[in-house]
Amino acid sequence: MKGKKILIAGAGIAGPAFAIQLIGQGAEVSIIESRKENQMQEGLFIGLSPNGLNILKELVDITPLYNDSCPGTLHFLNSGGKCIASLRTTYQLSLYGIESIQVKRSAITRLLHDKLASLGCTIVYDCRLEAVDEVEEKIRIHTTKGVLGDFDLLIGADGIHSRCREIAFPKGQKPAYTGLLSTGATVAIPGWKDSTKAINMTFGKRAFFAFATSGKGEVWWFNNFYQKKEPDRTKIAPSLQHTIKTELLKLHREDHSIVTQIIAATSQLFAYPIYDMPPLTKWYTPNICLIGDAAHAVSPHRSRSIACAGR
Ligand SMILES: Cc1cc2nc3c(=O)[nH]c(=O)nc-3n(C[C@H](O)[C@H](O)[C@H](O)COP(=O)(O)OP(=O)(O)OC[C@H]3O[C@@H](n4cnc5c(N)ncnc54)[C@H](O)[C@@H]3O)c2cc1C
Repeated sequence: MKGKKILIAGAGIAGPAFAIQLIGQGAEVSIIESRKENQMQEGLFIGLSPNGLNILKELVDITPLYNDSCPGTLHFLNSGGKCIASLRTTYQLSLYGIESIQVKRSAITRLLHDKLASLGCTIVYDCRLEAVDEVEEKIRIHTTKGVLGDFDLLIGADGIHSRCREIAFPKGQKPAYTGLLSTGATVAIPGWKDSTKAINMTFGKRAFFAFATSGKGEVWWFNNFYQKKEPDRTKIAPSLQHTIKTELLKLHREDHSIVTQIIAATSQLFAYPIYDMPPLTKWYTPNICLIGDAAHAVSPHRSRSIACAGR
């Protein structure tokens, strides 16, 4: 990679992580990101498994992640709140040297971005990849901030709705809306006490609900919400947020009271539509390579029918 001029589209997680690797190999890397800098805080939290943590550890010092995290241990509760099974993470320590945790998505992005800044690599925000011209062996990139060039490689790290994928494979597969929204929030509840040190997954009478308590004492919760009509994926309207909250309170009214206590205390609910991305047969062309969700988005659900079964 020494001396190669590379443009990465997308400064979420895959893009900055790969940029750090490429810079380490001597490449000259530029990154563009369609969001504005102040939008990079968006999102809730992500579970990091030992393999992901071990890779991340090679790129950045992950110690700051533990300042605001939830444990990875899972407790499965019945609708009355009784723990019926648990899956601890302690076995991972001897196998992989590290245990799964949940962290805010923005915390991972921040660590990666800080590392890039220390390597002298800046991110151009509010700059969307639109089109690509291949001129002999080089590529020229059309963006909302003008034409950039000439590059040896374009890396598409622009997520599940990748423009880069459309450019590289115009007749390729497209993501399909599953009919589910992933919903959740991080909430500070006065007087909250939870000594479980686990993600408490409640199999309620009519729906599923999970919550954990972060090291800072906040409640982090998530579940899935059936929404037949695909909402605007860039912004869930306040009216839909209100509907989700009201429906969740109804769905969980027969479950243990902690669930409705958490939902009732939530003012800022985050929701994003879930898409299935059929596997691609190829992730690259001679000058373009897809990575992360642009190449292989993983469904957060085992299957739609299971996820909807509670309704
Ligand atoms: C705002 C946001 C919030 C999320 N919140 C959660 C969450 O709470 N929990 C969870 O499990 N997963 C969440 N995800 C998904 C999760 O981040 C990804 O599944 C995972 O991190 C894979 O990372 P990625 O870098 O491949 O894709 P992403 O994290 O999706 O990053 C792709 C980046 O590319 C940018 N982009 C898109 N199109 C263009 C373009 N044309 N030109 C330039 N840049 C472009 C996007 O703005 C985004 O920053 C979220 C994703 C986003 C974008």
